[in-house]
Amino acid sequence: MEEIIAFVLVPAGYLAGLAVFLTVAPAIVLLRAAALLMQLLAGHIRLLAGVLVRRTPEFQILPPYRPQDEEVKAYRNYFFGPGARDLRQVLTLQRRSYARTTADSLRAVTSRQFTAPTRTRALTVPYGLTLYAGLVLGAALSPVPLALLLALYGLLLLLLTGGAHLLAGALRAVDRTMLYMRRLPTGMICPHCYERVPYPAYDCPRPTCRRRHADIRPGTYGILRRRCECGQRMPTLLMLMSREARLQAYCTHPHCGKPMNADAGHMPEVVVPLIGGQAAGKTQLMAAMLLALENAAVNGGPALRLADDDTEAGYQVLREILRIQGHTRGTQKDLPRAHSFVLGAGRAERLVHLFDTAGERFVDRDETDALRYARAARTFVFVLDPMAVDDFWTRLEPSPGPLLDRTLASTVHPEEVFGRSVQAVAAMGAPVRHSRLAVALSKTDLLAEHGLAPDRLDDSDTARAWIRDKLGLHSLVQAMELDFQEVRFFCTAAVADETARVDASISRFVEWCLRP
Ligand SMILES: [Zn+2]
Ligand SMILES: [Zn+2]
Repeated sequence: MEEIIAFVLVPAGYLAGLAVFLTVAPAIVLLRAAALLMQLLAGHIRLLAGVLVRRTPEFQILPPYRPQDEEVKAYRNYFFGPGARDLRQVLTLQRRSYARTTADSLRAVTSRQFTAPTRTRALTVPYGLTLYAGLVLGAALSPVPLALLLALYGLLLLLLTGGAHLLAGALRAVDRTMLYMRRLPTGMICPHCYERVPYPAYDCPRPTCRRRHADIRPGTYGILRRRCECGQRMPTLLMLMSREARLQAYCTHPHCGKPMNADAGHMPEVVVPLIGGQAAGKTQLMAAMLLALENAAVNGGPALRLADDDTEAGYQVLREILRIQGHTRGTQKDLPRAHSFVLGAGRAERLVHLFDTAGERFVDRDETDALRYARAARTFVFVLDPMAVDDFWTRLEPSPGPLLDRTLASTVHPEEVFGRSVQAVAAMGAPVRHSRLAVALSKTDLLAEHGLAPDRLDDSDTARAWIRDKLGLHSLVQAMELDFQEVRFFCTAAVADETARVDASISRFVEWCLRP
C-alpha cells in the first residue's frame, strides 16, 4: 500500500498539482516581469533625480567642468558641456543599474528557490523556474521603455542645447548690430596702442578678484550673465551693462593690454588727429578746444565729460598752459597723446579722441607706426604756424622781424610736415580723399596784436587767400585741396582770458571739426 501511495498517488497528485500550477504560471511570469520593469523604472527616476538635482558624489562619475581648468576662469553654461556630461553619466549609470537590478533579482531567486530553499525543492524548483522566466521576460522587455525615456531626455536636452546656442548666437548678432549702428564695425580704438579692438576684454568687477575675461560675449560661459571663478556674475554684452555698471575694458592686443575708456563700445567714436610741426601750436590749440567745449557745455551746449584719468590729468596741464599763455615749445612728454572725452548726452553721445601727433612724429619715419589711429579719422586738423614760413618774415608789411620773437616759430616748414603726414597717414590706410581737413592758422593772436593778421579772422576764403598770397604757400593749398575732399581754413587764437573764456575763433573751429 505504501508503494502505491509513494509511487502512484504522490506522483499523480504532484503532477496534478503541477498541472494546476502551470495554469497560473503564465500569470506569475507576467507579474514578475512587470515587477522588474517597475523596479527598473523607479531606479531610472531616482537616477535622473540623483544626476540632475541631488548631484551627490555617487552620481558624479565623470570629471566635472571646473572654472580653474578652463582657459577662461569662469563657469560653463549648462548647455555648453555640463548638460552633455549629465547625459553621459545618466547613460552609464542606467546601464550599470539595469545590469545590477536584473542580476540581483536572478541571484535572489537562485538562492531562495534553488540553493537554500525554505521548503522542499519539489515545490520551489517549479516556482523558481517560473520566476526565472518572468525575470528573463522583464529584462528582455524593459530596455524598450527605458530607451524611450532616455531618448526623450536626450531629445529634450538636445532641443534646449540647440535653443541655448541659437539664443547666444542671436544675442551676439544683436550686439554686433549695435556696434554697427554706433559705427564701430571694426571695433573701438585703444588710446594706448592706437589699434582697433574688435571687442575689449573685461576684468571681473570684484575688487579682490580682477580676473581678466578675454571674451565675455554669450557662449560657452553664459548666455546673459557669466560667473567668474570667484563667483561674481558679470554681464555678457555691452548692451547689458547699465551706465552705472560699465565694466573696465582692456585692449586685447597682446603687446598692449592697457585699460581702454569705460565708454568704449557704448557710443560712436570720433577720431580727430592734430597734425603739425613741433611748436606749431598744437598743444595750445587742443587745450583751447577742450576749454571751448567745456564753456559751451556750461552754457547749454552739448555735455562734456572727460573719458579717462589720463585725459583728466592732461587737461589740468593743458589748462595751465593756456592760463599762463605758455609757449610749450613742443609737446611735453608727460602729456597723453590722446585726449578722450564724451560729448553730448543720451543717444547723441560720442566718444571723441583728439590725438596729438607730438610734433616730430610725422618727421621721424619709425614713429609713423603710431599713426594707426588715423585710419579711423574722417576729419584731420592741420596746424599751420605762419611763423615757420620764411616768406612770413620777408614779405609781410610791416616786417614782423622786430615785432615777434622768431624762436617761438616751429622749426619745421609746414609744406614738409604736410607732405610727410599725408603720405604716412595714407600709407596707414586712412581714406584721406574722403576726409575733411581743417587748416588751423595758429598764433593769430600774436599776428593780430601787431596788425599782421588777415583782414577777416572768421572767413575761410580770406584765410586761404592770406596763406596763398602772403605766405606764398600756393602749392601747399593746392596739395591740400587735391588730397582732401573738403578743406576749410580757420584763423585760430588759442588763448583764454582771465575768466577762462576762449577766443571766439576756437568755438567756430571746434564746431566744424566735430560736426557729425
Ligand atoms: Zn592697446
Ligand atoms: Zn572674479
